[in-house]
Amino acid sequence: MKIGVLALQGAVREHLLLLDRCGVEAVPVHKLGDLPDLDGLVIPGGESTAIGQLMEECGFLGPLRVLAEHGFPIYGTCAGMIILAERVQGGSVPRLGVMDITVRRNSFGRQRESFEADLNISGLEGKPLRAVFIRAPHVVETGPGTRVLARFGERAVFVQQGNLMATAFHPELTEDARIHALFVQRVRDFVKSRTQAHR
Ligand code: GLN
Repeated sequence: MKIGVLALQGAVREHLLLLDRCGVEAVPVHKLGDLPDLDGLVIPGGESTAIGQLMEECGFLGPLRVLAEHGFPIYGTCAGMIILAERVQGGSVPRLGVMDITVRRNSFGRQRESFEADLNISGLEGKPLRAVFIRAPHVVETGPGTRVLARFGERAVFVQQGNLMATAFHPELTEDARIHALFVQRVRDFVKSRTQAHR
């Protein structure tokens, strides 16, 4: 099993380290040719406009959309959440648009450009998760197939739709690997179902 971290722009290394701690092989993804080897993909935080433009230029958008429609697991953090969203408020961003959510960019305002908060996350054992928000978006609206797994106050900040996951915050900037472990479990299930389908 191999999970890629899209390495066009943004925080890549931190994701690789946490995935490694979850016991899976994790590799940086620089070009389209890296995709066929992968069982799942992380789209990191950074600047969504830059990541989206580079994804478009490198030809990632079409093939990844098709993969996502066939159950390929993708996890987006912060800018990665914006890349996954069907609808975005606050600027046009080239993106995958595969999750039935509306996100608002930079939704916490200038006073709160970055902050940390303890979040209760549905399905996560143990203590609340310390979440780091940096110029974060939040989810304004979700479609019927999308579940909200965590909120900060009223705002949805962790959503899931099938094998697609998105957090407005950055779990890779802490030592806590529980969110990555959730994603790794999705990837394991996906790999298992794919193997069974091919029997
Ligand atoms: N504010 C950035 C954007 O809109 C996202 C910030 C982040 O990924 N930390 O693209």
